[in-house]
Amino acid sequence: MSKKSSILRFSAALFAVMALAAFAVHCAKNSTSVYGPLREYIDMIKVVNAHEHQRWFSEYEGHAYNFYTLLAHTYLQADLVSAGAPGLKTETINQGDLDALWKTYGPYLDFSRNTSYYSHFLAGFRLLYGFEDPYFTEENVRILSEKIAENYSRREEWYEKAFHQAGFETMFVDQYWDPFNTELDGRFFTLVFNINPLVYSIASREQLIVPDAPLQTNIYKLAEKEGNPIKSLDDYLAAAERLFQKFQKKNVVCLKNSMAYGRSLDYAEVSSEDANKLFSRPSGSLSAAERKALQDFMFHWIVKKSLALELPIQIHTGYLAGNGNVLENGRPVKLNNLFLKYPQARFVLFHGGYPWTGEYAALGKMFPNVYLDLVWLPQISREAAVRGLDEMLDTVPYNKFFWGGDCHFIEESAGSLAFGKDVVAQVLAMRVERGLMTEDFAREVARGIFRDNAIRFFKLKVPS
Ligand SMILES: [Zn+2]
Repeated sequence: MSKKSSILRFSAALFAVMALAAFAVHCAKNSTSVYGPLREYIDMIKVVNAHEHQRWFSEYEGHAYNFYTLLAHTYLQADLVSAGAPGLKTETINQGDLDALWKTYGPYLDFSRNTSYYSHFLAGFRLLYGFEDPYFTEENVRILSEKIAENYSRREEWYEKAFHQAGFETMFVDQYWDPFNTELDGRFFTLVFNINPLVYSIASREQLIVPDAPLQTNIYKLAEKEGNPIKSLDDYLAAAERLFQKFQKKNVVCLKNSMAYGRSLDYAEVSSEDANKLFSRPSGSLSAAERKALQDFMFHWIVKKSLALELPIQIHTGYLAGNGNVLENGRPVKLNNLFLKYPQARFVLFHGGYPWTGEYAALGKMFPNVYLDLVWLPQISREAAVRGLDEMLDTVPYNKFFWGGDCHFIEESAGSLAFGKDVVAQVLAMRVERGLMTEDFAREVARGIFRDNAIRFFKLKVPS
């Protein structure tokens, strides 16, 4: 090789390195110059959180409050179990032996450091506790546990502080554990009616009318108490009607269906005549297909009711929380017949339909009556949320998106919001950088997702 050609090669290589460095600086500058101010703007939005399961403190009476109390009610626990850990039991936590708890769960927390469940849970402590370490350790979990115990010794005060510090305006609460309760603290919460028990109970009459049947989700016992015992399908529908009226009086803003946890989302059409015949038989004598037919009838009845009352229906689609279920049950396309049959009803599909996110976006694009709530998708997989939202913004007008957290404790909700904001800001910044939208429009979209769309769509009485 001649000296001249090696100098030439050296110059070319140097030029390439310099060009690459300039490109990298350009990209870094672009990402901070768009992401940074956009994220600052998003952080100022008072967020309308369209889905949560926040439980009030009386429901945790007798619990010790430490890091593991929150861990036991976070999604992350499922990753620990997936990694091989035993389930986290209240009795074990209440013993309060932090050494023993770390010994059992620490190794599985460490195995889960890569997951979005882990990172969003940690993000909540960054936001509300000033936690700065990259991961949970035996030592910092001990310190966090002390702070958690201190905060929960003044829990109402803590809740109010954390709620505002996280940046919430209001949270929709799906009380699946007490679905007929209409009393909520209006300073924080907005009422949602979880209709699962109305659908399930229609085909389990015998189990629910026995003397020791549970009371809380029991429409038969409720009707009996009101002096209107359920003897026929008409009685059942009248009891359901009264529940709708009760929720209407308390300003319910939508219905919620999370039935994919227990059955498939396909709801066939069943005539009143067939439903009457099935209801008149002992429910124990019904086959699985007959029970499903009765439930299908009831959900169609509820969709018609939602139309009359102008209440949107939120529906869980896709991935199922926990550690074992029938994934296929939540496939969004199973709902296709309802969207066609009830063009005036409004359906809000949850969770990006993960892992069927393309199918989910296609339904939101095709149907004027199908809306998309990104709730929980960033926690399931941050990268799936980034890819999914980018695709959804290619396909679906932005007035159809909402955001929710889907958590039991304020710490995890705060972390979910931080994660959600990061995903939305990243996707919108990338789209600005690619010349697909202006920065002004990106801010408008973000404001729509985190606040304005929900206020308009659910007709909320908050400042717009
Ligand atoms: Zn939920």
